[in-house]
Amino acid sequence: MKKIFVLLFSLLNSRPIFAYGGNTPVILRVAILTGAPSIEISFRELHRLKSLDSDELLSVIPSLKKEKIFPLQEGIKIGEQIFKVPRIKIEPLNEEGGLLINGRKYRGEIDILRTKDLKLLVINRLELEEYLYGVLFHEVSPHWPIEALKAQAIVSRTYALYQRMMNKDKDYDLTSDFYTQIYGGRSSERYRTTRAVKLTAGKVLTYKGEIFPTYFHATCGGATEDARELWDIDIGPLKGVKCDFCYQSPHYLWERFISFKEIKEKLSNYGYGISGKVLGIIPKERNLSGRIRKLTIITENNKFEISAKEFRQIFDPQVIRSTNFEVEIEPEGAIFRGYGWGHGVGLCQWGAYFMAIKGYKAEEILKFYYPGAEIESYPSIMKQKRSE
Ligand SMILES: [Zn+2]
Repeated sequence: MKKIFVLLFSLLNSRPIFAYGGNTPVILRVAILTGAPSIEISFRELHRLKSLDSDELLSVIPSLKKEKIFPLQEGIKIGEQIFKVPRIKIEPLNEEGGLLINGRKYRGEIDILRTKDLKLLVINRLELEEYLYGVLFHEVSPHWPIEALKAQAIVSRTYALYQRMMNKDKDYDLTSDFYTQIYGGRSSERYRTTRAVKLTAGKVLTYKGEIFPTYFHATCGGATEDARELWDIDIGPLKGVKCDFCYQSPHYLWERFISFKEIKEKLSNYGYGISGKVLGIIPKERNLSGRIRKLTIITENNKFEISAKEFRQIFDPQVIRSTNFEVEIEPEGAIFRGYGWGHGVGLCQWGAYFMAIKGYKAEEILKFYYPGAEIESYPSIMKQKRSE
């Protein structure tokens, strides 16, 4: 057996390394892998392995090179060693530990959980600001004007804190994919995006003193959406605004041909039986932002309604990029021509880009897209709450 697991009990009582600046750090739990049959791990400096449940020290490992981790009935197997616990925490002893999961670098700690179906759930536990360093690169380009990057940093910080509040009883606060916001760990950090996070450190958006879900999307296509049209959220800053800034966005217009064969197949898979030829796909009802609420599908033998939100999900949100579109029927299929990319709620990222180009500051951009919202410092909000 490889001699990679060395117990160094003297390290048991060394201090945690992620407290900073005298403030209590805000720790996020980000699910970086779910349902994985195995993962590969590497690090080149001392790491402690502990039971996540009892905090018992299991091992201190000086380094690991591309070892596999597997879930087992009796516990978790790392390399050749089996640890008889269902949940393991891996803590670096210094910040330059260089921990990699499946070839991607992460800051902070890694929790490895064996799930009921014998898969692995991998959670990166790290400080909020460090998490943001690994988010911005995926949401906006590091080459964008700094005021647009700062706006995105404040939005992403608020959004993460909102998710943390909503998911406090779950195994993790956020996922790392586009269902919440994309996070790529330390491998995704860039100088200018990290600078935008640092320049706005601790700043969040609030409405009536509370943080709110600061949704954002790539391009609104002329008007942002009222959150009520999609979710059960009815607050001032998410009611939608007219946006004259994103018309030069590369995502302002989109066009896509979908064959009748595919239309019939996809709708049938989702329980919408289509009998005979498709004769029409007609936007039936539009809301104030111009987006379609309902579509009527007419075929040779039947006719039914479907919500545009569901239609977009069925045909892939990357294909039907928004619910603001027109449909033209051709002999073999339908052409969809639409505006914008995304659900349209909250910040229009390309609108923010063009506002920054025109000289608007991050605060002005945010107050435009979230009318009625304020920018506050998160630590001071928490202090107020404690003294109430
Ligand atoms: Zn826009």
